[in-house]
Amino acid sequence: MRFNNKVAFITGGGSGIGAATARQMAREGATCVIVDISQEAADAVASEVGGLGLAADVSKRAETEAAIAAAVAQHGRIDILFNNAGVGCFGKTPDLDPAEWERVIAIDLNAVFYACHAAIPHMPKPGGAIVNTASISGMAGDYNFTAYNAAKAAVINYTRSMAIDHAREGLRVNALCPGLIATPLTAATDQLPELKRVWHGSIPMGRAGTPDEMAEVVCFLASDAASYMTGSIVVADGGQTAWTGQPDVAPYIAG
Ligand code: NAD
Repeated sequence: MRFNNKVAFITGGGSGIGAATARQMAREGATCVIVDISQEAADAVASEVGGLGLAADVSKRAETEAAIAAAVAQHGRIDILFNNAGVGCFGKTPDLDPAEWERVIAIDLNAVFYACHAAIPHMPKPGGAIVNTASISGMAGDYNFTAYNAAKAAVINYTRSMAIDHAREGLRVNALCPGLIATPLTAATDQLPELKRVWHGSIPMGRAGTPDEMAEVVCFLASDAASYMTGSIVVADGGQTAWTGQPDVAPYIAG
């Protein structure tokens, strides 16, 4: 019960990694505030974990601030802030509608700032923990993934920046970089067997990760067990970024 008496504010908590993390934290004693752009999704997970469901578009500063204020009004503080809501979009720069660029940057990056800006004054120091969901797509480039690559790279360095700013207060800030995880965000891959074969084949473990596997990492980072970790960028990707991308030459030169 490492989250007994802890209040966790989880964005994008209505699905995938956010929902799995809410379930795990609640199992270990946390009171969860589930925030999602979909009221229905937030309420569904909140009722499952016995928490508070709030609808907010976290890319809108006023909505994020209102959600933080509602959580603080109900629970008095926020011990754990999990900035996890995120979206992607496809397109090389000349083809990308600038409105799409702005939408992805707003949800994946600006929202992290809005939530931290509003929540940090209400977080215990020492003892508070922020976890940001970045991505391995913030560590290198993907084809046709411009805005997402830029936003997630910014989340990684923003995590480091906040970590050092708040280290002496005892507020820890870390980031999770998932590889391919089987969630509704990536479900379309399953409808394209050839893409799935190639993608899974590029992962040394040969499969996508699960939301529960990400929740384990988030819970560790948010818990006191990670008391000496801040500014850490934790990769959980089945070995994807351990590989240079060069082929296994052995089958070609055998014999
Ligand atoms: P998901 O689509 O299952 O869940 C994301 C949730 O965020 C959804 O419930 C959605 O309604 C919500 N959301 C979207 N826009 C929002 C907004 N403006 N305001 C509030 N809520 C909003 O996706 P997931 O795979 O669980 O993704 C969670 C995070 O993990 C994202 O930041 C994503 O970029 C990141 N990530 C996912 C993968 C992957 O392969 N699934 C890999 C790396 C990083």
